[in-house]
Amino acid sequence: MLSTMQDVPLTVTRLLKHGSTVHGTSRITTWTGEDEPHRRTFAEIGERSAQLAHALRDELGVADDQRVATLMWNNAEHVEAYFAVPAMGAVLHTLNLRLPAEQLVWIVRHAADRVIIVNGSLLPLLAPLLPQLTPVEHIVVSGPGDRSLLDGADVQVHEYEELLAGKPTAYDWPELDERQAAAMCYTSGTTGEPKGVVYSHRSIYLHSMQVNMTQSMGLTDEDTGLIVVPQFHVNAWGLPHAVFMTGVNLLMPDRFLQPAPLAEMIERERPTYAAAVPTIWQGLLAELTANPRDIESLDQVTIGGAACPPSLMEAYDKLGVRVCHAWGMTETSPLGTVARPPAGVSEADAMGYRLTQGRFPAGVEARLTGPGGEHLPWDGTSAGELEVRGPWIAGAYYGGADGEPFRPADKFSEDGWLKTGDVGIISPDGFLTLTDRAKDVIKSGGEWISSVELENALMAHPEVAEAAVVAVPDEKWGERPLATVVLKEGATADFEVLRDFLAEHIARWQLPERWTIIPTVPKTSVGKFDKKVIRKQYADGELD
Ligand code: ADP
Repeated sequence: MLSTMQDVPLTVTRLLKHGSTVHGTSRITTWTGEDEPHRRTFAEIGERSAQLAHALRDELGVADDQRVATLMWNNAEHVEAYFAVPAMGAVLHTLNLRLPAEQLVWIVRHAADRVIIVNGSLLPLLAPLLPQLTPVEHIVVSGPGDRSLLDGADVQVHEYEELLAGKPTAYDWPELDERQAAAMCYTSGTTGEPKGVVYSHRSIYLHSMQVNMTQSMGLTDEDTGLIVVPQFHVNAWGLPHAVFMTGVNLLMPDRFLQPAPLAEMIERERPTYAAAVPTIWQGLLAELTANPRDIESLDQVTIGGAACPPSLMEAYDKLGVRVCHAWGMTETSPLGTVARPPAGVSEADAMGYRLTQGRFPAGVEARLTGPGGEHLPWDGTSAGELEVRGPWIAGAYYGGADGEPFRPADKFSEDGWLKTGDVGIISPDGFLTLTDRAKDVIKSGGEWISSVELENALMAHPEVAEAAVVAVPDEKWGERPLATVVLKEGATADFEVLRDFLAEHIARWQLPERWTIIPTVPKTSVGKFDKKVIRKQYADGELD
């Protein structure tokens, strides 16, 4: 029997219509580096999204599911593109501005981007690549920057504001199929070549609802969220879409991502919430220690994208900022787990839960798979590769050799679950603890050593700024850990001291024999420890 319910498609358009009317007075504030930041209401964003859609369709001829790319910082105009492009039926492709040039070129060509909306300040990056970006016909420039860099380029150049000026502020948005492509994002290639994930309207809508759940971010229109995680990093973790459901105000840092302006922004604009990867929070902590600021407004922050070291969580607890740890991937939209302790646990036990990667929401099914393909129990001790499935989890990648979606066997199980490449355990009440990425785990004499556990223990030492541990080949054991350590200024600790410190927390056979002091830990384009590069630079021989 079929249901008797209405079959209303879940689309980005609905989010736009809702946010720009019901929450029309909520605001996006964009940092400009000047005395006053720039402010725009959700109602204005709605009108300008309509104008942008008219411009893209009527002047640039964007039709059907053609790709419109963005090479932009986090700002109000980028949010306009987030809504206008999918709502008109085209596909938004957010480009990662920190990727090496050749990867950026590869991705633009692979996605067949026809238009790129670019912030003027990023023209020095884009302009030299243009001759290779063959599918691109139009460049739309927004914000300050030297336009002459585009002189002579074989593309049509437009000014964002001029394109919008005079266009109707309403658009007859088409009724779309909710399974249609809305946006795409390439994995940042931490452990391999970039792969394209294409989000549907439906997946974005359902993911937005999850982001808003009380047991996820749980924000309301009384909140202001500082979104440091870039809009090109898994759609800024889905936050710009989600806030159009709830009216959460946004504070966007634009290109001012260094610790000092971030601290200033928090003091002046008083956000209640913020989201970023651990390295951003480490940098901000160092800044706040050197130059204390009033960050009292910050109630809650989400840290995800890489494991949050316990020392970092404790440091922010002391500042009165509650850290909420979360796990996800480009392929999971990204919200996969959020670490909110269950009801009724003591303060002391709560910390244990908060340091896990978090609990699975109803929309994400999870299982652990052992080396022989067997499914392991959720008993808090059996470790295996995490596999997930659900309505906002990728089931394939975009554009294989034959142009069709492809499902590599190392990323998808035969029965269609996503293989995350993350190794961990799950407790009976559904909390995930990741021990490592499968590729980073150190296989020593048939036993596994977690690089993350060693890193967390090392970063708890007061003289250690950052530490990354990678596997190096070893004749006797197969692999052994190499600890690469960044010391704080004026530190006196040597390897002996650090090893003794580790020995207090870590089993003796896991302690590294090999140590290197390094100036900084190499980072990926989204600010994670880049273990591929660390292995290349500091380990004997390549393991990948
Ligand atoms: P890339 O794989 O290129 O780094 P993603 O941003 O999609 O791009 O990264 C997803 C991966 O990041 C996960 O598979 C996991 O290894 C890691 N990750 C994300 N959040 C966490 C977390 N809270 N703790 C540990 N690892 C995390």
